[in-house]
Amino acid sequence: MAANSRSIRYSLVIPVFNEEAVLPVLLRRLDQVMFRLDGPAEAIFVDDGSSDSSSIVLRALAARDSRFRYIGLSRNFGHQIAITAGMDAAQGDAIIVMDADLQDPPEVIEQLIAKWKEGNDIVHARRLSREGESRFKRATAHLFYRLLGRMSSVGIPADVGDFRLIDRKVLEALRQMPEQDRFVRGMIAWLGFRQAEVAFHRLERAAGETKYPLFKMVRLAVNAALGFSDLPLRLAIWCGLTVSGLALLYGGWVVLLWLGKDSHLVTGWSSTIVVVSLLCGINMLMTGIVGLYVGRIHAEVKRRPLYVVQARVGFDRDETAATPAIHAVNE
Ligand code: UDP
Ligand code: MG
Repeated sequence: MAANSRSIRYSLVIPVFNEEAVLPVLLRRLDQVMFRLDGPAEAIFVDDGSSDSSSIVLRALAARDSRFRYIGLSRNFGHQIAITAGMDAAQGDAIIVMDADLQDPPEVIEQLIAKWKEGNDIVHARRLSREGESRFKRATAHLFYRLLGRMSSVGIPADVGDFRLIDRKVLEALRQMPEQDRFVRGMIAWLGFRQAEVAFHRLERAAGETKYPLFKMVRLAVNAALGFSDLPLRLAIWCGLTVSGLALLYGGWVVLLWLGKDSHLVTGWSSTIVVVSLLCGINMLMTGIVGLYVGRIHAEVKRRPLYVVQARVGFDRDETAATPAIHAVNE
């Protein structure tokens, strides 16, 4: 690794998609915050296929100021891929991902760093309030985080977006997760490590319009649900069991009516319904079983590491073996 890369302490990763309206304010605020930080910082702008002047402005900035870097993606790959590209290029000991539109105030970075220095490896920024966002967006976001929390087997923190700080070792672990459909906040939660959070009030977008229309939000939610829960796959099994169960119950009831020579019984119709719904149920059940196998294949192809090691003690003792260690109190 190059000599200068080791000296960078903080990397800010900022995805940018047609943000020319906010860039002047963003750059001013970033400049102030980076100046106040207690170590060398770099800001990596990932241009996610912008078609406005963002590319020109950021490219020129990176060429003249060594604190700024520019990565231009060949087309719009989406927010999650953009932040992945930025994190892959980050050189700092702590990496902070934030939006370009100042909804994630750069000043909160200092609080994230304070928590990192207390020994936390991941520091999430949790939204206490969301200003200037439509009631629809707030309601769907609320529902999304609650549902995901119930469905997923890893604890994905609620009301936390992608604004967070991660330690270098978390980044190295994240790089071992090559999955295509990325839901970065879920992947980071999956990794474990020591996590903490800082609360902040999410402000209105400083300028410009949201780059997350409904279809992108739905895509993100689907990715999250499919990547972090196998509940959708199991659904067919439960539907199948319910339908077959009801069919059998109804079948039993029809037989009772028939034995009792009940005049309400419509011959022919009842037996058809029983057979059709029983077969439907069995069909769904089978689909569900196939789903379980598909789920296993899905887990395999994600190629996530089996486990992540946080610390190893006592493995590389070669040098210390000669000098007997004094039994110190922890560490
Ligand atoms: N963004 C991106 N690619 C996209 C959509 C968004 O890089 O396809 C960036 C965008 O420039 C911003 C961040 O992701 O920096 C969050 O987007 P936005 O503020 O529009 O989302 P919202 O806050 O409305 O959910
Ligand atoms: Mg925004």
